[in-house]
Amino acid sequence: MDSNIKRIGVLTSGGDAPGMNAAIRAVVRAGVFYEKEVYGISRGYDGLINDEIKKLEVRSVGNILERGGTFLKSARSMDFKTPEGRKKAYENLQKRGIDALVTIGGDGTFTGANLFFQEYGIKVIGVPGTIDNDLSGTDYTIGFDTACNTAIEAIDKIRDTATSHDRLFFIEVMGRDAGFIAVNAGIGSGAVATLIPEREMTTEQLIARLNKGFKNRKLSNIVIVAEGGKSGGAIEVADKVREHFPNYDIKVTILGHLQRGGKPSSFDRLLASRLGVAAVEGLINGHSGMMAGIINQKVVYTPLESAINNTKVVDEEEFRVAKILSI
Ligand code: ATP
Repeated sequence: MDSNIKRIGVLTSGGDAPGMNAAIRAVVRAGVFYEKEVYGISRGYDGLINDEIKKLEVRSVGNILERGGTFLKSARSMDFKTPEGRKKAYENLQKRGIDALVTIGGDGTFTGANLFFQEYGIKVIGVPGTIDNDLSGTDYTIGFDTACNTAIEAIDKIRDTATSHDRLFFIEVMGRDAGFIAVNAGIGSGAVATLIPEREMTTEQLIARLNKGFKNRKLSNIVIVAEGGKSGGAIEVADKVREHFPNYDIKVTILGHLQRGGKPSSFDRLLASRLGVAAVEGLINGHSGMMAGIINQKVVYTPLESAINNTKVVDEEEFRVAKILSI
């Protein structure tokens, strides 16, 4: 038990994710519950460097649980990647007597947090907040479930027009390096094929899959493409397919940033609330340089380094299910 911790700072960094507000609220309330002072740091690591720090009370985080985005704002800080930037950040924490940090974000955020922890010994716990779901040490990251729900809702609407006009749609979802959203959305929306960064599907294989669908008189044809797909994004893949089906009405929709917004789902609210409390309790219990996650319904703490470096892979079983159901 580390009873020396008096003041905890909390920040959100990198790409925003629905549920970040619920996580901040949980950190603040758990901190106050355990009689700590909690400080909100605006704009991620930039706010730490520029001293944009203010004390948060229990009521400062009222009515934010259900809001998308992050009320602390997020940023991608170039300065924090420099030793000078991190030194300034450390001095600001020292000045205010903040002796522990909760960083909510993705792998970049944790890379920075880990470096900070190693250089200055600052106690830090990471909370996985990213729609990508690409971190090891947790079954799910905050925002992933909401992003999938948003994607599926949008794809349902596109299916209406795809069916009415016999159109073939290529829908691009987020995922530069990871296909979790794509596979989830592919199964949930009944896609004929799903293209992800981790797996090769050649144009020939895709054409064969589409031909089979046409032959089986599928009512509508939707292909989900992760933005970082092995054969490119939706536009590139659609262009290649168009060459084989010059007479077919092929359309592309890029869902883009709408997948980041909106109210967090009940799943994300619960996950964020549990992880926010776990982060504070982890710090109080002496954990540091760790990420709080949930595996098989239980809170676990994983070294930040493992969370970042052990690449989480798309479940083979899910991929198999998607293929079986696409006939
Ligand atoms: P998402 O997965 O949603 O993109 P992320 O946390 O991975 O979120 P990044 O932009 O990669 O988002 O990282 C967030 C911030 O973490 C960076 O802007 C930078 O301030 C810090 N960071 C990333 N890599 C490093 C590094 N090597 N050294 C120090 N700080 C870093």
